[in-house]
Amino acid sequence: MNAYFIKDTDFTQFLGKMIEAHKVVGPKAKKTRFVFDQIKKPEDLRLDYDVTILPPKKLFFPPRQELVRFHGQKASSCIHPEGTILFGVHFYDIKAIDMTDQLFRETNPDWNYLANRECSTIIGSNIQNVYKRAFFSSVGKGVEPKGHDGFITKISGGYVYDAITAKGKNLLKFGAFTDATEAQLTEASKANKEVLDKCPEKLNNESLEISEKVRNQFKSPMWKEFSEKCFSCGSCNLVCPTCYCFDVQDNWNVDQQTGVRERTWDGCLLEDFSTCSLTGGHKENFRETRASRYRHRIMRKTSYLTAKLGGPACVGCGRCAGACTADIADPVPVINRLMEV
Ligand code: SF4
Ligand code: SF4
Repeated sequence: MNAYFIKDTDFTQFLGKMIEAHKVVGPKAKKTRFVFDQIKKPEDLRLDYDVTILPPKKLFFPPRQELVRFHGQKASSCIHPEGTILFGVHFYDIKAIDMTDQLFRETNPDWNYLANRECSTIIGSNIQNVYKRAFFSSVGKGVEPKGHDGFITKISGGYVYDAITAKGKNLLKFGAFTDATEAQLTEASKANKEVLDKCPEKLNNESLEISEKVRNQFKSPMWKEFSEKCFSCGSCNLVCPTCYCFDVQDNWNVDQQTGVRERTWDGCLLEDFSTCSLTGGHKENFRETRASRYRHRIMRKTSYLTAKLGGPACVGCGRCAGACTADIADPVPVINRLMEV
């Protein structure tokens, strides 16, 4: 038996004991929105959140990360992984973390990411409130969320907890869990199914069909039209749970002996993202126009990574749609229109 139940009245004590023993990061209110942040008191955890401003990937892949400190010819790694419990992740973000795991693990494994990721415990939670721009139920339907250690679902009177791995089972010791009954499991499964009908936005076609057709629209004049109001601000990239591009820079101290190599999030919608140095002090930007950058992002989300990831590189969280000042980043109207051609 891997499914357990904990009463509402025991849940606060469970969280309190877990927080006492481990660093716990979860959804917290920040003014009118939500963020993933360290939970220091049980009442800070807001499992009723709709979506967070930034995705939980920031825990393993921070916006700015020191990689190596150097002193003359000597260098030391900045990897200091800290075992953390990431609690209350919606299923679309679990899918995104799994994609990022695959991308950082392939060919030359990136231990600056993997060291943090591997010592973490990820506990999912059901979606109690749906974000106004979400479309998670119509994208990548064949891609199952995986890689998490447990999953908690709110039902009447308490929570059903599915302890998936040994790390997930290890949390049982903090609370007064009992075996879940058939009726409780049915209620949890119903809650997780019913939320899929509540997405305000919807793709009209299946992901594989989209992947093929959108790729064939590379030369479409519509890219210019879609991107006309783009400010090239990169917000759509920066809030995305599946974007993983970064820039690396060596920052030297004034002594010209010591310094630090850092990486920072980058985004393909930023004007200079594709600028390369050439010989003789020249440079070349191979995606110079807004239309080419805009097209690249949609191609990455729908087509380019599909074979590698087994599905689209978009999980339908809707963060990009909400973050775009010009309101043109939402993949749904763009894809639906391209599919009509
Ligand atoms: S958020 Fe909107 S305006 Fe900014 S780069 Fe993305 S599409 Fe362009
Ligand atoms: S492209 Fe937009 S909707 Fe899709 S995963 Fe990224 S932020 Fe979410």
